[in-house]
Amino acid sequence: MYRLVVDLYPICRSITGDGLRASLRRLQQEAPLTIHEVPSGTQVLDWTIPNEWNVRDAWVANSRGERVIDFRRSNLHVLNYSTPIRCTMSLAELRPHLYTIPEHPDWVPYRTSYYKEDWGFCLEHRRLESLPEDRYEVVIDSTLAPGVLNYGEYVLRGATAEEVLISCHCCHPSLANDNLSGMAMAVTLAQTLARSTMRYTYRFLFVPGAIGSIAWLATHDEVVPRIRHGLVLSCVGDRGPFTYKRSRRAEAVVDRAVAHVLRHADVAHRLIDFVPYGYDERQYCSPGYNLPVGCFMRTPHGRYPEYHTSADNLDLVCPKALAASLDILIQVVALLEGNALLVNTNPKGEPQLGRRGLYGSVGGAAQLPGFESALLWVLNYADGRHTLLDIADRAEMAFPAIRQAADALLGVGLLAPAATDTPATGGALKASR
Ligand code: ZN
Repeated sequence: MYRLVVDLYPICRSITGDGLRASLRRLQQEAPLTIHEVPSGTQVLDWTIPNEWNVRDAWVANSRGERVIDFRRSNLHVLNYSTPIRCTMSLAELRPHLYTIPEHPDWVPYRTSYYKEDWGFCLEHRRLESLPEDRYEVVIDSTLAPGVLNYGEYVLRGATAEEVLISCHCCHPSLANDNLSGMAMAVTLAQTLARSTMRYTYRFLFVPGAIGSIAWLATHDEVVPRIRHGLVLSCVGDRGPFTYKRSRRAEAVVDRAVAHVLRHADVAHRLIDFVPYGYDERQYCSPGYNLPVGCFMRTPHGRYPEYHTSADNLDLVCPKALAASLDILIQVVALLEGNALLVNTNPKGEPQLGRRGLYGSVGGAAQLPGFESALLWVLNYADGRHTLLDIADRAEMAFPAIRQAADALLGVGLLAPAATDTPATGGALKASR
C-alpha cells in the first residue's frame, strides 16, 4: 500500500483530467477496475459535470527570469482548476492570487476553484514575504475545456446481489493521507477479498470528491436499493487513533460492526456521529438516499495540522498504520459476511451438549477461549430475532468467538437459518485475529 502511495504521490490529480486518469490506470495494475467517463455538461442530480481541466506547467518568474513559484517543484503550487493565464504584473497585482498559511510558513496550502473560474498560486508564507516588488511573469499553461469526468469502479460479485459499497476520493494532487491512503487501502482490500468467496457483492468506487459520487448515484438507481452496508475510506495512513463516523442512520449494521471490531481489537479509537460535511458519505447519506454508509478514518480531515497542505506528504503516512487500518477493515468485512439470523432448533431447556461432543471439548487447540460460554449465549439468543452481532454485543464477546460457536451448533443441527438468505456457515474470509 505504501509503495502505491509513493507511486501515485507525484501525479497532479484533480476532479477531472489526465492526472486522474493516470491514477486510475495505476490502480488498474492492482485490480481490474473499469474507468468510466461522464461528458462535461451532463446533468447529474442537481449538478453539472464541469469542463475538464489539464495543466502542463505553471510558474511565476521574476524580472531576471528565475522561477520563484514553480509547478514543476510541487503541483500544489497551482490553484487546482486555474484558468490559463500568461502576462506580466506587479507584486501588488499578483498578491490577491497568492495563497499561504501564515501559521505554517514553510508549508504550501492546497486550494481549489472548481466551480468558479479563477487562477492562483499557493506557496510558502516565508517565500511570499521574501518576494520583492518587481515585474513578475505569470504563466499557467492549462486548459479548461469540454471533456469528461472519470471514475473507477470494480465490482466483485458475491453469492448474492446484496452489496457492500467501498468508496474513496481520488481527486487531490500530491496529498498522501488525504486521498492516496484511501485509494491504496480500497484497492488492496479489493485484492484481498477477490481471493475469497464472498456472500455479498463488493463494489469499490474511486471517485472525484462530491461530483464523482453524485455522478455515480445519478446513474445507478438500480444498484442503490441493493446496498446493505458501506464505508467511505479516507485518511487511513497516519499514525493517529482510528475514527469511525457513523452513517446518518447511526444504528446501521455497519455502524455497529465497526464499533464492535474497534472495541474488541483493543486499539485507540473514537466513534463520532454523522455530520453533513466530510467526504462522499455526505452524498450517500443525503436524505433522498440515506444509505447505511459510514466513514472509516484515522485522524479525521481538518483535525491534523498537515491537512490540505504540502506537509500531508509521504512522511505523514506510514506502512504500519496502513496495515493496521487494513486489518480492521478485513475484520469488519468478516463480521458483515458472518453475521446471520439463526434459530435454536431445541429451544425448550438447554440441549445436552456433551452428548453432541461440544461440551468439555475446551482445550482443543482450534477453540477460542470461552467456547462453551459462547455456545450458551448463542443457544439462548438464537431466537430468530437476535443476529450473531446482537449476541456478540450482548455477551460482550468478540464476534469470531460467537461465529465459531454458531458454526459448531449448525454442525450438530442445533441451529438453523432463520431466513433463506442467511449463510449456513461463517464464510470463507477469516479475519487475521
Ligand atoms: Zn481533502
